[in-house]
Amino acid sequence: MKYFSYQHNELYAEEVKLSDIAAQFETPCYVYSRAALEENWHAFNNAFENAPHKICYAVKANSNIAILNLLARLNSGFDIVSLGELERVLAAGGDPKKIVFSGVGKKTQEIIRALEVGIYCFNVESDVELERLNTIAKQQNKVAPIALRINPNIDARTHHYISTGLKDNKFGIAAENALALCHEIKKMTHLNLIGIACHIGSQLTDLSPFQESITLVLELVKQLTEQGIQLKHINFGGGLGVRYQDEQPPSINDYVKSLCQRLQHLPYEIIIEPGRAIVANAGVLLTRIEYLKHTAHKNFAIVDAAMNDLMRPALYDAWQNILPVELKNTHTLVPYDIVGPVCESADFLGKNRLLNLHAGDLLTVCSAGAYGFSMSSNYNSRPRVAEIIVDKNKVHLIRERETTETLFSNEKLIPSF
Ligand SMILES: *Cc1c(COP(=O)(O)O)cnc(C)c1O
Repeated sequence: MKYFSYQHNELYAEEVKLSDIAAQFETPCYVYSRAALEENWHAFNNAFENAPHKICYAVKANSNIAILNLLARLNSGFDIVSLGELERVLAAGGDPKKIVFSGVGKKTQEIIRALEVGIYCFNVESDVELERLNTIAKQQNKVAPIALRINPNIDARTHHYISTGLKDNKFGIAAENALALCHEIKKMTHLNLIGIACHIGSQLTDLSPFQESITLVLELVKQLTEQGIQLKHINFGGGLGVRYQDEQPPSINDYVKSLCQRLQHLPYEIIIEPGRAIVANAGVLLTRIEYLKHTAHKNFAIVDAAMNDLMRPALYDAWQNILPVELKNTHTLVPYDIVGPVCESADFLGKNRLLNLHAGDLLTVCSAGAYGFSMSSNYNSRPRVAEIIVDKNKVHLIRERETTETLFSNEKLIPSF
């Protein structure tokens, strides 16, 4: 987390003290670094050198429109999974011609809008979706550009909730059916098959399953070419892992370089859909300790952030580093469970962390830029938190903290008789 570092025992985001941010915007809040975000995107982009490519940032990792806008200014593409994400990208100034639309459950209205704005490609995940897409495109007098998403039946060796390339998963079309289906597509008048897509899962730290999926996809593409079906692009999805604890994921550069090597001399544009690898280490969750509760068996630091603000620990049993904003002496470290106020025992941010804590102290949960705010909810009627981005010595509020009024402003009492 290069852009979050201690200076004189105080934790900074770029050139700004996190304690100053807490004083100005209160806690909990997410704090992002613009430099970290842009550096990661450039790392992907530069690694491609002259190879034709699109980086379609996976919006679901962090969908704040300020983040999307910064990426749009770098000419990024976007990978969306819903109408809401489509509208966010458009509102952020994203180019529709660089949008790919993934997801197993695209609704009619979502397809109509995506056709209307002219997205680059639909990643189609089933035969029944092909039918729906063809019918709607015909009604709209359009031709839908599509890629077939292949399910390669490869174990990504990641958490089973974020593994997507196994035959038991709901995603994609079985590789063995793909060839026949591509010939069917050629007969569908309002579909234009331009690519093959594959995404085997998230937080990949071992690249061998990814390499296997590349082999399988390239084999399929070769067969298609031999049978007279020529594609424009191959989409290898996202999934590159980041370092939360002691994982050793490949660097962005090595990851892209290995991909380019496999496609050298082949006439395809490469598309990738990274999410986590761009934003995870560009953000932290800043929280304040309300109480230190010592029981006979455990020490709890009860903080003002909770599982509704950052779901990864509760959902995936994920480990994220927790750092004090003010570094104190380390002679008196005590093991703490860092927990929130939500009424669930799954409501923890970290367990058994050796820290020297006092009530009122600020803590940061590291590597929280991806699947942090975007997965947050109002559970326990907690307003969703503020989001802030630091740009050198400047601080920008990019999402206001929700208020208690907005919590139930869509709700209605039933009339009394
Ligand atoms: C979630 C997702 C991604 C992004 O995954 P990361 O691990 O965040 O890079 C890319 N493509 C598809 C289809 C996804 O579902």
